[in-house]
Amino acid sequence: MKIAVLREGGAETRVAAIPETVKKFAGLGAAVSVEQGAGEAASISDDDFKAAGATIGSRADVLKDAEIILCVMGPEPGSLDGAKAGALLIGALDPPKHGDAIKAYASAGLEALAMEWMPRITRAQSMDILSSQSNLAGYKAVVDAASIYGRAYPMMMTAAGTVSPAKLFVMGVGVAGLQAIATGRRLGAQVSATDVRSATKEQILSLGAKPIFVEGVAGIEGEGKGGYASETSAEYQAAQAELVSGHIAKQDIVITTALIPGRPAPRLVSDAQLATMRKGSVIVDLAAEAGGNVEGCVAGETVQRHGVTIVGAVQLARSLAADASALFGRNLANFLIAFWDKESSGPVLPDDDEIVAAIRLTKAGSIVNDRLKTSQ
Ligand code: NAD
Repeated sequence: MKIAVLREGGAETRVAAIPETVKKFAGLGAAVSVEQGAGEAASISDDDFKAAGATIGSRADVLKDAEIILCVMGPEPGSLDGAKAGALLIGALDPPKHGDAIKAYASAGLEALAMEWMPRITRAQSMDILSSQSNLAGYKAVVDAASIYGRAYPMMMTAAGTVSPAKLFVMGVGVAGLQAIATGRRLGAQVSATDVRSATKEQILSLGAKPIFVEGVAGIEGEGKGGYASETSAEYQAAQAELVSGHIAKQDIVITTALIPGRPAPRLVSDAQLATMRKGSVIVDLAAEAGGNVEGCVAGETVQRHGVTIVGAVQLARSLAADASALFGRNLANFLIAFWDKESSGPVLPDDDEIVAAIRLTKAGSIVNDRLKTSQ
């Protein structure tokens, strides 16, 4: 069994394997072939990979006879020429945006597995790339905001007077939001947070932050299938807007992370609310790629509105390439190890397995995923 690890292109800094996972694959009896320079941007040299037991080669070398191809983002189908029919292509393939690439993978006979469609079940936690990368993004959002903010986070009592603590508000308390709260607290900010899922209230309190919640309004459950948020009632949205208006005017740093699967990100901060914030305040919108939680947010850009800096954060985990690669690489290794069959010396992916059914996009030349079939 040969496993290929691709070198990513464009702005991507991460790599889909690390020396530790190469050793694990070797322990399973697999041969790992890493594309030259694949780990460079994540501070992993070809020699590091070699020392872990991998061979290094060109794209054509690593693809030749590989039965498993590991990547971070979905590669251009043309760059996979020479890949063996039936090979597994495993990574963040982003099916909603890359429908044509998915069709091309199917035509090439590749079995494409989109790791970001991993179901949120206990068994899949260690394979969940969205969680591992969101956690880092939540941390980095707070650190990036600190570097832009022209004031300090913690309270400082000095001979020259007192510096007041920054007020940091986290909107959306999933994986990224929880890490943003924890990071803001560590840096000394006064942290508050809100979510539509009432279960998060206790989590906010346990991190020493203040929950800001709409109370006593119908349709506030906000908890949909699989632990994700669902859309809220109009009454709830109006009550939430009022609550945010009162709170946000007093905040210095706002980190927004609110997402609803399969829908545009909910709009949580309006232009009128921005106008009430103190000049020099900073917002980092982690939902930028899904349309943004903040009015005026532009994905991939930093803009100013009413003296407030709005960062349209995109793939923040890329700026922590070494840690992000380590967690991403382990997610992929955990998936392969869970399905590894000793007798056939490779993964066996049963059609009726909940994880396989959720992430498998293509097989034997066809699109096989229900989510993709219904959107066609
Ligand atoms: P997410 O990225 O889908 O959304 C981020 C947060 O935004 C969520 O907490 C959501 O409730 C919130 N949100 C949505 N609409 C909002 C609105 N209008 N106002 C305020 N907040 C809003 O969520 P996530 O980070 O993936 O995590 C959601 C939950 O799923 C968490 O409890 C997490 O622990 C759980 N989870 C479980 C697994 C697993 O068991 N394998 C994996 C990942 C996440």
